[in-house]
Amino acid sequence: MDLYCVMGNPVEHSKSPWIHARFAQIMGHELRYEKRLVPIGGFADAVRAFQREGGKGCNVTVPFKFESPAIATKLTPRAQLAQASNTMRFDGSEILGDNTDGIGLVSDIERNAGVAIRGRDVLLAGAGGAASGVLGPLIEAGARRIVVANRTLGKARVLVKRHMPLAAQHSVQVESCELAAINGVFDIVINATAASMTGSGVPFSASVLKPRALAIDMMYGPAAAPFVAWAGEHGAVARDGLGMLVEQAAEAFLVWRGVRPPSAEVLAELRRTLS
Ligand code: NAP
Repeated sequence: MDLYCVMGNPVEHSKSPWIHARFAQIMGHELRYEKRLVPIGGFADAVRAFQREGGKGCNVTVPFKFESPAIATKLTPRAQLAQASNTMRFDGSEILGDNTDGIGLVSDIERNAGVAIRGRDVLLAGAGGAASGVLGPLIEAGARRIVVANRTLGKARVLVKRHMPLAAQHSVQVESCELAAINGVFDIVINATAASMTGSGVPFSASVLKPRALAIDMMYGPAAAPFVAWAGEHGAVARDGLGMLVEQAAEAFLVWRGVRPPSAEVLAELRRTLS
């Protein structure tokens, strides 16, 4: 039976094993998908040990997404641009590093939430592994303006600079700023910071929201509840990160198995299971 896993620290909360088991069941594939708690500093060893064990591929979550490109022997263009990888596939001795976070988020916004990104103003808060993975696909989806706001300004600047050629190609205005200095109002507001995960509240003011803006926290489960409540209280359409999670998983399944499972159906089931 083909073996996959998600590597992270922490990883206990991960819903990926449930999602991939359900995808496999629906698609008639036989596979096993496990959670692997990896010690900080032990990521490269854990990936190589898993490959030796016969693993076919893995997902990578906090805090290892920036470490995976260095272990990969080849990178997809989207992982190269992100300099972060959430999906690895073992092809014999080769390791392919890919990033499905961005396409997962874009699918969730456009297909599941029914909001077109083209021509919209987007706030992307955060400049970590998750934000790095989604900026390129947001540009390619044709946003009008994207502001990347981060607690540490330098990281947002580096991220934006790397994406400038792609932004110019798609005529998208991309800027960086500190979280405390966000200028303007936005149609789509994405919290890609770890603030909800650490319970430290919404890291920007409600003044960034246009009326009926789509406000998404990449976190899901009880930790996303304060953000979802905040967005609703301020007239936004609130969304947690469960849709992105399922969509990025469907893309990872495609990378590993060559077929894309029915993600909307599995998302609906997962929401029912969690409620
Ligand atoms: P990461 O690489 O560790 O980056 C963390 C980011 O959050 C950095 O930009 C950091 O700012 C910022 N941050 C941390 N604590 C903060 C606070 N209290 N106030 C303001 N900013 C804060 O983590 P990541 O991989 O990007 O993940 C970010 C979040 O997205 C996590 O909650 C993760 O679970 C979620 N996520 C969800 C999905 C999904 O499929 N739904 C996929 C990927 C990630 P500094 O640069 O200043 O440190």
